[in-house]
Amino acid sequence: MTSQDRSPHTVVIGAGINGVAAGIWLARAGHRVTLVDRQAPGEGTSHGNAGVLASCSVVPVTTPGLLRKAPGMLMNPDFPLFMRWSHLPRMLPWLTQYLANANDADTRRIASHLRFVIGDSLEQHQDLAGNTVADQWLVPSDYQFAYRNREEFEAESYVWKLRRENGFEPELLEGAAVREKEPALGPGIGMLAVMRQHHGHIRSPGLYVKSLAEVFAGLGGTLVQATVQGMELVDDRIRSVQTDQGPIACDSAVLATGIWSTPLARQLGIRVPMESERGYHVIFREPSQCVSVPTMIASGKFVATPMHDGMRCAGIVEFGGLQKGPSRKPIELLMRKVKELMPDLEYRDTVEWMGHRPAPTDSLPFIGQIRSTGVYTAFGHQHIGLTGGAKTGRLVAGLITGEQDAQALAAFRPDRFQR
Ligand SMILES: Cc1cc2nc3c(=O)[nH]c(=O)nc-3n(C[C@H](O)[C@H](O)[C@H](O)COP(=O)(O)OP(=O)(O)OC[C@H]3O[C@@H](n4cnc5c(N)ncnc54)[C@H](O)[C@@H]3O)c2cc1C
Repeated sequence: MTSQDRSPHTVVIGAGINGVAAGIWLARAGHRVTLVDRQAPGEGTSHGNAGVLASCSVVPVTTPGLLRKAPGMLMNPDFPLFMRWSHLPRMLPWLTQYLANANDADTRRIASHLRFVIGDSLEQHQDLAGNTVADQWLVPSDYQFAYRNREEFEAESYVWKLRRENGFEPELLEGAAVREKEPALGPGIGMLAVMRQHHGHIRSPGLYVKSLAEVFAGLGGTLVQATVQGMELVDDRIRSVQTDQGPIACDSAVLATGIWSTPLARQLGIRVPMESERGYHVIFREPSQCVSVPTMIASGKFVATPMHDGMRCAGIVEFGGLQKGPSRKPIELLMRKVKELMPDLEYRDTVEWMGHRPAPTDSLPFIGQIRSTGVYTAFGHQHIGLTGGAKTGRLVAGLITGEQDAQALAAFRPDRFQR
């Protein structure tokens, strides 16, 4: 028996960005780790996002006044918020709790906690992927916000005030300076707010996670393709992870199954109020023009990002649950908005995708141990899971190895909704 065989064994469930990061940091700490996913790594929500390491995105969607504005947003066919109405009754309890956070005190509280998870995201991804095969996908870059004019920028003054208070000061460009910075943008964009440091993007989020899974395997980690059905606890302590291929004995487990975490957490007696904020992307392959860095288009609430296979435009929020397939209207809106933004854009063809952002009612991820079970959570990162995934994996690995103080993560406790 080698010393590796005697080292503690952790099963990480879910090979998205959160799971692979946890696996790598545990393997680097000398743990035996098995990473289980029902699909290949990086095929869940981590595949299709906008690829932005958005350190400044500390302000949640639930800002003051949202309750008043939401009906108008839903009725406006030009606004990137959609609802499958048949899903509304089922999501009402979540929606009520979610909207209850749309006040100044809660928004500030959430922003300060999110800053802890994502504020140093570029550096965290560099620590995770630097000097490995995954580094080829990681690009330190600006992250910019594009507005039609100053008025549109000032309409978001509350969000910018909070970003500034959290240390993120944009450089503002107007008129000719916009065209000089980003020639691909059409005349419809009159102002850019540019974040210069601590930001970046991933040239293919799905391939990045696959490369990280290779790094994990190179460290001696084991990859298993299986569906997890539950966890066996003895005296409220994890004994094994149950899969459709049989049980995997372990000393600890990490639940990193994104939006699909709710039923597995419920089996362990934990209520994690999450809803899918469905999002979409369209990749314009072989585009005649492309933004040079990720660019959030304020009027469409989507990001255009230069990627290895074209320009990916990703965003939109649609409430419609996990079961139903994609809708047409969000894609049509994205296409319309891109046409407005870049009227001269030509391309070979497009690829469309829909995925599920795991959105807790309080917009804070679940990072911590469930009681003293040895089961740790690493999910619930809503719009910023790629950004926060590298650090979350490191934090969870630290909790398991004993290097991370659990008290410092109290705001993210998985049992914070227990009554
Ligand atoms: C349109 C869109 C744009 C986005 N843009 C950005 C962005 O630019 N920047 C950013 O930071 N974030 C962005 N996000 C959010 C980000 O993509 C997610 O927060 C993040 O990918 C979640 O990662 P995860 O590892 O928690 O989950 P996932 O990537 O979904 O991984 C979960 C894994 O668990 C597996 N799994 C589930 N159940 C089981 C089971 N029972 N057994 C075995 N395996 C199971 C799944 O197969 C999956 O691989 C965006 C999201 C969307 C939808």
